[in-house]
This record gives sequence, C-alpha cells and structure tokens, in this order.
Amino acid sequence: MKIVRYQINGDSPKYGWLLDDKVGEIVGDIFGEYRRREAKIPVANVKLITPCAPSKIVCVGRNYVEHAKELGNEVPKIPLIFLKPPSSIISNGENILLPPQSNQVEHEAELVIVISKRARNVTPDQAKEFIFGYTIGNDITARDLQNIDGQWTRAKGFDTFCSFGPWIDTEFDASDAVVTCRVNGQMRQMASTRDMVFNVSILIAYISSVMTLEPGDIIFTGTPAGVGILKNGDVVDVEIEGLGKLSNPVKV
Ligand code: ZN
Repeated sequence: MKIVRYQINGDSPKYGWLLDDKVGEIVGDIFGEYRRREAKIPVANVKLITPCAPSKIVCVGRNYVEHAKELGNEVPKIPLIFLKPPSSIISNGENILLPPQSNQVEHEAELVIVISKRARNVTPDQAKEFIFGYTIGNDITARDLQNIDGQWTRAKGFDTFCSFGPWIDTEFDASDAVVTCRVNGQMRQMASTRDMVFNVSILIAYISSVMTLEPGDIIFTGTPAGVGILKNGDVVDVEIEGLGKLSNPVKV
C-alpha cells in the first residue's frame, strides 16, 4: 500500500492511501488503528506533502564503499550517524534553496526507512517489525561547509535540505533496489541497496541502541557514489526502482 499525506485547499493535512491516480482518506491513527475510505479523490485535486511528519531525521554517513572512497574517507567500522532538523524538510516538487554561505551544495540520493512503532534497543532480528515502510530521500548537503566545520549540523541542516516522499510504500522490498540520481536528466548516481555497508536491520538496531525511535521517524540510509554539485535552475530527480521518484527544482 502507498501511504500519502495531502491537503485540500490549504486545510490541515490528512493521511491517505494512493490507488493509481486516486487518493482515499485514512481515518484514525496511521501507526495504530485506522480505516481506509474509498480511493476516489483525483490526486490532481489534492496537494501531496511529505508522507509523514518525523520527530527525528536520523542519517547514516558513508554507508556505500564507493561513496566513502570518492570523498577520500575510510569505510566506517560502526555506522556513522547524524541528525537533520525537521525544519529542513521539503516535499516532492518544492524548491531546494541554495544558501549564500555555501558554494558547493550537493545531492545525495537515498533509501529512507519509516519507523512504525517506538523502538528502543531493538535487535537486528527484531528490526523488520519496526519498519512501517520505505520512501525516497535526498540528503542535500553543503559539502564545503561539511569539510570546514568538521561536524555536520550546519552543512546538513539548512532549510530545504531534507526532501523525502512522495509516498511511503509499506510492501517495498529494500534488499536489492537500484537507487539513482539524475540532474537535468543526466545520471549522476546509481547503485543497489545491496551494496550498503550496514543493512537496514543493523541500522535500526544500532540507532535504537542510542536513541528511542518514534512512529514516523525516518532514517536516511546513506548515499551511493556520484554525489555532485547543484546549481540554480537544476532539477534533481531521485528514483528508487519499484518505489517511485522524488523531484525537486533548485533555486537561489
Ligand atoms: Zn546522506
């Protein structure tokens, strides 16, 4: 099932489910008890926003060997994690804004895990029970500031630097899916999720040994090789095979 959030005429956001080009409202708690109404609202008549509203955005750095190498870094022995603030979130179609402090804003195409229920000290064997589904993400990064600062809060935390969506697929098989990034139609990144250093179950176990994960929290699972610069007027498309496409224009 594909889960979305949507607004009609600026009303408060509702959860829904997507069937072809129609949306049906979901009533109740999307992470608990809910009912699905008939999918009869044309998707063209609603504004799709991010498919959940996370309390935390946890990200994994250097989780593909070739990407760690391209930036001259070692492959981590344990997962390297960092946070992006919820204020950085944008949805499919919204503008990525280039901040004046950086001359090197880059795309990072990533598979994103959505958490289904409170997770604390979960083992890798239990981890699948805590996955609500998957979505598509772009972990936008000011690479020059990341290098200057040493720690990554500024480089990863600008407004508009966290794009994800357009939906959550609750049945997606994340074990071997091709993740691509195109800028103005030109291929920049392509790899399979099979090539992750730490798989989805290990990541959930590791992160939940540090911080409690809440329903709707999201985990960016790292980016493949091929990261590159974004310029004013570009359009960046992140696509995951079998899951969908996330597209954002770049503006100053
Ligand atoms: Zn990343």
